[in-house]
Amino acid sequence: MANPGDFAYTLKEQADIVRIVGEYVKLRKSGAQNFQGLCPFHNEKTPSFSVHATRQFFHCFGCGASGDVFSFVQKIENITFPEAVRLIAEKLKIPLPKMSYASPEEARTAKLRGGLIDIHERACVFFQEQLRRPEAAHAREYLASRGLTPEHIAQFRIGYAPEQGFVLRDALRKQFDDEELLRESGLFSWKERNQSPVASSQLSEDPSASVTPTTDNRQLTTAYSRFRNRVMFPICNESGKVIAFTGRTLSSDEKAGPKYLNSPETPIYSKARVLFNLDKAKEAIRKLDYAILVEGQMDCISLYTTAPPFQNVIASSGTAFTEPQARLLARFSKNIVVNFDPDAAGAAAAERSLALLVSEDFQIKVLTLESGFDPDLYIRRKGRDAYAEALAHSQKYFDYLIERARAQFPARTPEGKVKAVNYLLPHIQRIPSRIVRDEWANEISHRLGIDSAVLRQELRHAAASRTASRVNALSGGGLTDAERVLIRALSTDSPARAAMSTREGLDTDFEPARQTHFALTRERLHEGSAAGPLIDALLLAHEQRLDPMRLPLEEADRSLLAAVLMDEHEELTPELLESAIRSLRRRALRRQLEDLQHQLKEAERRQDAATAAKLLQERIRLRRDMSVVGETA
Ligand SMILES: [Zn+2]
Repeated sequence: MANPGDFAYTLKEQADIVRIVGEYVKLRKSGAQNFQGLCPFHNEKTPSFSVHATRQFFHCFGCGASGDVFSFVQKIENITFPEAVRLIAEKLKIPLPKMSYASPEEARTAKLRGGLIDIHERACVFFQEQLRRPEAAHAREYLASRGLTPEHIAQFRIGYAPEQGFVLRDALRKQFDDEELLRESGLFSWKERNQSPVASSQLSEDPSASVTPTTDNRQLTTAYSRFRNRVMFPICNESGKVIAFTGRTLSSDEKAGPKYLNSPETPIYSKARVLFNLDKAKEAIRKLDYAILVEGQMDCISLYTTAPPFQNVIASSGTAFTEPQARLLARFSKNIVVNFDPDAAGAAAAERSLALLVSEDFQIKVLTLESGFDPDLYIRRKGRDAYAEALAHSQKYFDYLIERARAQFPARTPEGKVKAVNYLLPHIQRIPSRIVRDEWANEISHRLGIDSAVLRQELRHAAASRTASRVNALSGGGLTDAERVLIRALSTDSPARAAMSTREGLDTDFEPARQTHFALTRERLHEGSAAGPLIDALLLAHEQRLDPMRLPLEEADRSLLAAVLMDEHEELTPELLESAIRSLRRRALRRQLEDLQHQLKEAERRQDAATAAKLLQERIRLRRDMSVVGETA
């Protein structure tokens, strides 16, 4: 957390949240102080994500995500607070002081991740060097056979992992003596000595085997490279840092393991959050406003390096698309041409990817190549222009599905039509938009020649019955104007406000938070209203000098607070505050009066003259109070 005097605090004052968020989300001005855009943390069509320029916070009214510039960067980059501080400082080109961390654990994680990035960079250089050595002739031949020139190899930093399992380890140990770092890198397998024949044969070729006892069972372990005799493709994160590898085997030996071997999950690498080549492709994807998605890394490299290149290509690396990947891509474009064959091996993964992209509201086209051709082979056999031609003729996903349905279930008979409709229904139901679902339901009726009223009805029903998408939560409705003013007044303690008032030379005798706190704690005017719990939290924050934007609030209250603060149109003046307090006072008095009238009626019904007399006295007093605040009763 940023506290006055911290580097993070100073940094936050200089970092313009609108600019930083704007690097990830397309923002549009929507008020005097706020900007709106599509939320990067949930899927939506109309913007409910707002950024407040002076108060320097963001809030999504759809999913409730909320916070300052650091929490935004932490959430979107999936990193810790110190890492977010570092990243923002880098963006602003502000030199970092020696880092301080909130906890030893946080310091350890940040150090570990920094170390892992370094070790991957070093390993990448090592593999690149190895590829140039005489022993790597077969690797260079393989790459040449795939049509890759030395320039392409350099561009993608492709390398070679030698057969001997200890070379990488020895190279890295010179620089990285931290055992934990080597373990966490995922670059090595750790075997107990003499554990298996495979391990011992590994060790026998290792003259300088350095062996370390493990703390728990005192058994001897040693490390050898996970990747041996493989062509190495680095996998980069969005900013181009190497975080993992894919190794393609060059052995025909069965014991050599799988054809493609990936790094395991590590503190810096999560397969479900990375898209291969996004670091290189993202600008082109943004500019062209669509991405080409292929399955294999070789396909991706092939498209990216052909001349002229297709620079907006990314690869899913053979696994099904995940939600984080879809969100990641959505930041650059929501249009995608999918170039893999849903009928081929891995069809289930392809099917899941398409389903996910539909439900995440992507506009999808499908590029189907002649059977037996992947994009890499297609370009090498038929040429770049033939691929561009095929790309131009890619089909809308639902057109493609309808064709498949017609091919599989010839719709001449009523029975065939029912089958075709049943095949299509689950796909239709994934579409988030009701309007689009309706359109496709009509289109299907038309194209399959469905004249049966029952089937049409069935289709329309299915299209309608998808559970309604998330309702746009609280927009601060249900609050009175007076309550809004008091919430704003209590939120003036924030550091942003302090900076604002010195900059703009606001009246320094006017202390809205203090004055509101005084009135409300004495008279409890906010009790019983929808904003009651939020106001109580803000009162407490004032007493403890906490930044209201960092209060641990219930989600509904946080939304309420954000809604009020995002909607500040009227300047907060002493008069406005005074009239808001008066208005709450009137309301409180009116409630007391109503209550009194009830009691009075009750007393009269019981013929309790003494109580009635007392209550009548009370009513006179109340009415006098009301005339003071300008209420007639
Ligand atoms: Zn959201």
